[in-house]
Amino acid sequence: MKNSSVFMVDSVDEDCDYLFKAVLIGDSGVGKSNLLSRFSKGEFRLDSKPTIGVEFAYRNIKVGDRLVKAQIWDTAGQERFRAITSSYYRGALGSILVYDITRRKSFENVEKWLRELREYGNSDMVIVLVGNKLDLSHSREVTEEEGRNFAEAEGICFMETSALENVNVDRLFLDMISKIHEITSHKSL
Ligand code: GDP
Repeated sequence: MKNSSVFMVDSVDEDCDYLFKAVLIGDSGVGKSNLLSRFSKGEFRLDSKPTIGVEFAYRNIKVGDRLVKAQIWDTAGQERFRAITSSYYRGALGSILVYDITRRKSFENVEKWLRELREYGNSDMVIVLVGNKLDLSHSREVTEEEGRNFAEAEGICFMETSALENVNVDRLFLDMISKIHEITSHKSL
């Protein structure tokens, strides 16, 4: 995926040309909050999640000559209680569906999350399947090939990441944003 003209901007106060929403989804404990805090603040949280977590984070991105504000939503632990409603998905142009490569069950549940995404989300939503915790590949229960094959069969993007070691995290978000930009700019032609 080409994203050479997509990069992050430090100032969050600049006016943006447009704003879009993307959501994080997947089983509890796969690393969604840490991927988001790594991306939005450049940090990894060693502590456990606060009871009521941050529901979304912003990041300004330069795409070509336009300033885009990405609003990324996190489930803030609600997936544990299956309390995610259609309003979580409403208006989202992108979705990051995360599993833990060391926990097979979280990969098996991807199908269920995908069904839910397709039921509630926009039909042309950009979906990226993410196998997180790449730093723990010695205890891997899901091969990279399995993840990639599944994503290919479903027509969605795929990437493995480590929120802990900051591997592929920026790339994941920037590639998704670049894909969304491609789709939205096509529509406005
Ligand atoms: P969430 O419930 O999906 O939001 O998951 P969290 O972001 O709260 O992470 C769950 C646990 O996995 C925490 O103990 C994190 O420290 C840990 N974790 C998250 N990402 C990684 C990673 O890339 N590598 C490793 N080794 N641990 C991770």
